[in-house]
Amino acid sequence: MGKKDRRTPQPAFVTLRDLPGTRVMFWVVGECPYCGERHLHPAGNLRTADPGERLGEVPAPCDPGRLYDLQLPPRPQRKKGKEARKKERRQGKAGSGWDLDE
Ligand SMILES: [Zn+2]
Repeated sequence: MGKKDRRTPQPAFVTLRDLPGTRVMFWVVGECPYCGERHLHPAGNLRTADPGERLGEVPAPCDPGRLYDLQLPPRPQRKKGKEARKKERRQGKAGSGWDLDE
């Protein structure tokens, strides 16, 4: 409730989205620590930008006098990576002429 609370940027967890049909990326704050709403922050062009550079302290759109700290949420572990790799390998083999698996 003191002054310190006002000054300390609150963490805001973001997910990266791209705008369909464009190469523009956005960091989406799912729930603003101040107003609870969703906020978008441009993260640059898919090809040229490093969206990670846009993370960190930025002014909250709902209250430009305050900062919040854009952070990636902790990632749950996924097994999907292995599956995708297997699939990729299978597709890569398909043209070899040795694949009689069909
Ligand atoms: Zn807000």
